[in-house]
Amino acid sequence: MPTLTFLGATGTVTGSKYLLEAGGERLMIDCGLFQGSKELRLRNWNPLPVPPSSIQWLVLTHAHLDHIGYIPRLIAGGFRGQILASSATLDLAKLVLPDSGHLQEEDAEYANHKGFSKHAPALPLYTYEEALRSLDYFRPFRDAQPLELSPHFTFRSFRAGHILGARMLEVTVRENATTKKVLFSGDLGRFPQLILPEPETPDPADYLLVESTYGDRLHPRDDFQQRLAAIVEETAERGGAVVIPAFAVGRTQELLYILRDLIEQRTMHSLPIHVDSPMAIDVTDLYRRHTEDHGLQIGALEAQGIKPFSPPDVHFDRTREESKALNDLRYPVIIISASGMATGGRVVHHLERCLPDHRNTVLFVGFQAAGTRGQIIESGAQAVKMYGHDVRIRARIEIMDNLSAHADYGEILGWLRRFRQAPGKTFLVHGEPKAAEALRQKITSELAWNVTVPAYLQKEFL
Ligand SMILES: [Zn+2]
Repeated sequence: MPTLTFLGATGTVTGSKYLLEAGGERLMIDCGLFQGSKELRLRNWNPLPVPPSSIQWLVLTHAHLDHIGYIPRLIAGGFRGQILASSATLDLAKLVLPDSGHLQEEDAEYANHKGFSKHAPALPLYTYEEALRSLDYFRPFRDAQPLELSPHFTFRSFRAGHILGARMLEVTVRENATTKKVLFSGDLGRFPQLILPEPETPDPADYLLVESTYGDRLHPRDDFQQRLAAIVEETAERGGAVVIPAFAVGRTQELLYILRDLIEQRTMHSLPIHVDSPMAIDVTDLYRRHTEDHGLQIGALEAQGIKPFSPPDVHFDRTREESKALNDLRYPVIIISASGMATGGRVVHHLERCLPDHRNTVLFVGFQAAGTRGQIIESGAQAVKMYGHDVRIRARIEIMDNLSAHADYGEILGWLRRFRQAPGKTFLVHGEPKAAEALRQKITSELAWNVTVPAYLQKEFL
């Protein structure tokens, strides 16, 4: 009998990994890192329940680390199969994975320096070199076309609208007289969309795995573009800078798109906008190049010769020298820089310089996880530690949560209602326990579907 095993993203939004087995063959969907609490992170060091060498294929939904960040470990463990994904996902992964290896090495070095690792010496989960080697296994698949991997597995993909290249995966599993369709939503995008086309509604499946990150929350519906324009204008009038810590993948491109639009519509004055993150600059190039993932709106702009991610006075600061030159910049200015939670990267320098001055604004546009520098600043603290000293917080702090890349529960329910037929069984994955349970109750009461929240390492006979 074919089986499905939940190797991650159960009771957490991280570590997405699912294993399908049929006819003695194994197919893995996503291969994510566990992130967050120490208990979760330690799972990255545990061996998988099956040897990686026994897995023939890995298919990816999208290139966020919690869906691909375990790949170098899988290969170190003996995986020699194919890694399949959309070409945009593979292009993003080629940037994200080596960067992750680099960060793993830095973390290990830091732990050794501080002497707080229980391993002596602390080892990186994988190195930059190992991450680079894993790219050799990448094979792009053609969007939407069914691909037969073997007599036991065939898959198709559908647009997920989450980030560039993100796809849902429908796997048809066959063994003897049994044929079952399993649909993996991956991370589900928003309705409506800014840059990407909306998530598609696939055909009904026997089993549906759907994410539940925002299973208990709704995104704000205020006119946040007007609010963004007001924040920038007010800061400019004070002669200050707007510093925006932003994720390099997705968020930075959305900001550029919105700022360009606000300036073109004359809702906001043009001012210098600096993107100070080599990763965000590379990712913006991919967003430009992968036109197959562009929605109608963006296509119409391009037809008019408008560059969607280029506001009039934008500067892409790739080198360290260009980044340092921002210290001497005359205000007003907007600086968009990574990391999104201010845990590291160039944005920390800008925050150190800008936080003590009341004329500046620090604008958070993404989720700030507990314990991060971003969350401390956001919480209204008087000071925050940077480079070993306390930095006073006098700048104006603003928070806008409208730009999430995940559907909220209203959007998830709306998407589920579009299915022509209820799946035989629905599993809620990729959510904290509270969020998954809240969504389970909503789906049960509003759609009367058979829906469960699976446990870590749970195995389902299909
Ligand atoms: Zn994601």
